[in-house]
Amino acid sequence: MEPTAAQRAALDKITAEIAAAAGPALPGTLIVRAYACGKPNCRCRADPPRLHGPYAEWTRKIGGKTMTRRLTPRELAEYQPLFDSAKKLRALVNELQDLTLEIIEADSPPQAEPATGDLRSGKRGHSPLNLWAARQSQPIHPAHA
Ligand SMILES: [Zn+2]
Repeated sequence: MEPTAAQRAALDKITAEIAAAAGPALPGTLIVRAYACGKPNCRCRADPPRLHGPYAEWTRKIGGKTMTRRLTPRELAEYQPLFDSAKKLRALVNELQDLTLEIIEADSPPQAEPATGDLRSGKRGHSPLNLWAARQSQPIHPAHA
């Protein structure tokens, strides 16, 4: 991995931003929304509708299951910066990963076949890309007369 001077500068910038943003961060997503319930004669079904909420809902995976928890206004005020912090860190890490990909792909272009052999053992010649290429090489219409 040999970053160029510009890539090195970009790496330093992103890692410094990550260090500056590092702090307590919560997993999952926070959505604040108002909604209509299922009761037919409720105020949320009136014209104009008066929806329930808005409520702050924290959704995340716990043991492979998606769980949603409603936050109190006090919890929302307390946790909001921790969600913001997590979001910022995720964006920065994505940027870092894109940049790192750019650097390693400049090293070994992805279109070149690796000389060290195929890691997807037994799948050689049957990848979706190869099938697609084979299909593309066939005439779309029967031979023209
Ligand atoms: Zn309702």
